[in-house]
Amino acid sequence: MPEFQITQPAFAAFVLHNAALKRLASGFDWAEGPVWFADHQALLFSDIPGDRVLRWAESGLTTQAAPANFANGHTRDLQGRLITCEHGTRRVTRREWDGSVTVLADRYLGKRLNSPNDVVVSGDGAVWFTDPHYGIMTDHEGGKAEQELPCNVYRIDPSGQIEAVVTDLQGPNGLCFSPGERLLYIADTGRQFTDDPQHIMVFDMGSGRPAKGRVFHKVDVGCADGMRVDTEGYLWSSAGDGVHCIAPEGHLMGKILVPEVVSNLCFGGPSRSRMFITATTSLYSIVVNRRGLQAP
Ligand code: MG
Repeated sequence: MPEFQITQPAFAAFVLHNAALKRLASGFDWAEGPVWFADHQALLFSDIPGDRVLRWAESGLTTQAAPANFANGHTRDLQGRLITCEHGTRRVTRREWDGSVTVLADRYLGKRLNSPNDVVVSGDGAVWFTDPHYGIMTDHEGGKAEQELPCNVYRIDPSGQIEAVVTDLQGPNGLCFSPGERLLYIADTGRQFTDDPQHIMVFDMGSGRPAKGRVFHKVDVGCADGMRVDTEGYLWSSAGDGVHCIAPEGHLMGKILVPEVVSNLCFGGPSRSRMFITATTSLYSIVVNRRGLQAP
């Protein structure tokens, strides 16, 4: 049986006490970047140091790509095409229906990106991604290289134009929009390697671009990395001891405890109520009594 921490009484109804926390697959070096394909009832995710992308379905685990340019975060665009952050090539790509790869971004102002980490697509078709330096600090998750740009967050317009939209975080990492795209949440994991602050930041999106950010929440164990919201606007964040559910007001509702450090999650399954969790060496799932926000 799964273990939950019920911090706010309402959280007891968010989870199912008879649902199993299933370890679906294991043996990875650092699992990340889960993305659900409802059309295939399948999940793609990355094993970053293992330099591979894996595909999980009820029928089993297969290798989607290896080598995989040290892929990290994934999402799908408005047409359902796969968008990938690649550490090894320091770019964001789109997989076309014919299998070819289109590079959406690999430079900004003529300088190479650091190591695109995580990515979301907004309702206008823009691609938003974080570009911390984690993939070029060592050879473990890409290739050690000189950093040419600050750790920015970028927006790629459907026209292809790239714009730095958040430039004052230390290590922007996971990101997601609230329902209606009124807010943008970004995990800042700068403290992972330094004494820099480490928080989930929130940015008002009233102007269509992130306004000045403010601290939204700090997970109490480990770091917030990948995040998703449910249809009611509750934020589900990765953390050192599992998945934390955070209310729109910023307080902890409760936790799904996972026996490995969690890197990321996404909602999937037939009703988007099955949470897939990438956690260090393993992929887990658990059905919850919430539904993930449908991607635009
Ligand atoms: Mg990440």
